[in-house]
Amino acid sequence: MAITRRQFLRRSAIAVAAAGLKPGSAFGSIILSGPARKVLVLGAGMAGLVAAYELSKLGHDVTVLEARTRPGGRVHTLREPFSDGLYAEAGAARIPENHDLTHKYVKEFALPLEPFYPQRLNALRFDRGGREEVPIDGFTDAMTRNYGGELGGNPERWQKIKGGTDLLPRAFAERLRAKIHYGSPVVRIEQDASQARVVFLSAGQQQTLTSDYVLCTIPFSVLRNIELPALSARKQDVIKNTHYDAVARVYLQTKNRVWEQKGLNGFAFTSGAVEIWQPTWSQPGPRGILMTYARPGEAERITNLKEGERIATTLKQLDEMFGGVRESFERGATKCWLEDEWSRGAWAFVGMGSLLTAASAEGRIHFAGEHLSPWFSWMQGALWSGLKAVKEIEEFVKV
Ligand SMILES: Cc1cc2nc3c(=O)[nH]c(=O)nc-3n(C[C@H](O)[C@H](O)[C@H](O)COP(=O)(O)OP(=O)(O)OC[C@H]3O[C@@H](n4cnc5c(N)ncnc54)[C@H](O)[C@@H]3O)c2cc1C
Repeated sequence: MAITRRQFLRRSAIAVAAAGLKPGSAFGSIILSGPARKVLVLGAGMAGLVAAYELSKLGHDVTVLEARTRPGGRVHTLREPFSDGLYAEAGAARIPENHDLTHKYVKEFALPLEPFYPQRLNALRFDRGGREEVPIDGFTDAMTRNYGGELGGNPERWQKIKGGTDLLPRAFAERLRAKIHYGSPVVRIEQDASQARVVFLSAGQQQTLTSDYVLCTIPFSVLRNIELPALSARKQDVIKNTHYDAVARVYLQTKNRVWEQKGLNGFAFTSGAVEIWQPTWSQPGPRGILMTYARPGEAERITNLKEGERIATTLKQLDEMFGGVRESFERGATKCWLEDEWSRGAWAFVGMGSLLTAASAEGRIHFAGEHLSPWFSWMQGALWSGLKAVKEIEEFVKV
């Protein structure tokens, strides 16, 4: 299913309304009301991390199982293969001013924010029938026009974490330390009347942990390949059939920011609705990175190319657009989320009418993740759903 971002957001809003899930955050004070319990959190992305952090603060005995060797999941800052400490985002990058939960934790961990968009020099846009040089609000206008107001508006309402978005999951992980077991992919989740059990691999060997509750934040695109004997047929059906969108990003490191000599800041919006960013505009030079951000339609085409071809075609495209990029090019990198073993897609639209089934707990097994929130495809959604699960578990504990 290839839907535009605008359709996607509209459908999301309807699905949320249909499911009776209120988008208001209001998780200010969760107070432990029952005995401490053992909780196994599956996945150390934003949903799992916030839940593990808040459950620990409440005094519960929390263990996190994470398949990767790092925290953050779809929050991933690429520092390799770039030079001079330059970095670019593979996943989450922009924070709008109204994402209160994202801002709450950025503030709690004292992470510095900076503007997402440069105010100097011009952007390019090609979505109105030709090449135009425009101030940066012309870029966000193209976003509004093509993807809806949620992704556009005043450029000043968008911020980013200085130093990389991964500082946020790392801040959670630092506080959880030994509670997170990395390199531990879950292969089976089961339960009976007295406990939940999770089977996972550790150095290739199967191990089992038991707990009072499980909070599963594994994306449905991965969860559908895990053994889930304890779940209802209806839940398994939603897990199997939830569609995940493709996103592809290609990064080009250059010796110099050649576009600046032409009065350009390295941001552009193509006729095919592909965003081009220069994530390094606020990082020290002289080197720079230009990157493309393709959504469904174009993203699958790029994913189907070999790594070398992705870089070669992007180099041609950006050289034609800005001029001088080929001569200045040093190295490239790519990130295609459909081929990521632990994500298998960028984000999910849980179909109308299925959201309640998808989000609700079954026995001792609870669920969270961006796909189960009113903010699909945002860190805010992952945080919201993680906190919602904490509240649910607290309700169970109370009984
Ligand atoms: C390309 C892209 C751009 C984005 N841009 C933005 C943005 O600008 N702003 C914004 O706010 N948000 C953005 N997002 C969305 C944001 O990154 C996600 O909504 C959020 O990070 C999802 O968190 P999560 O915890 O739900 O899922 P995940 O981050 O996917 O976490 C799930 C975790 O489970 C782990 N896992 C998977 N399988 C297993 C297993 N078998 N056993 C154990 N662990 C497992 C994964 O490794 C992962 O760490 C973007 C996402 C993408 C992909």
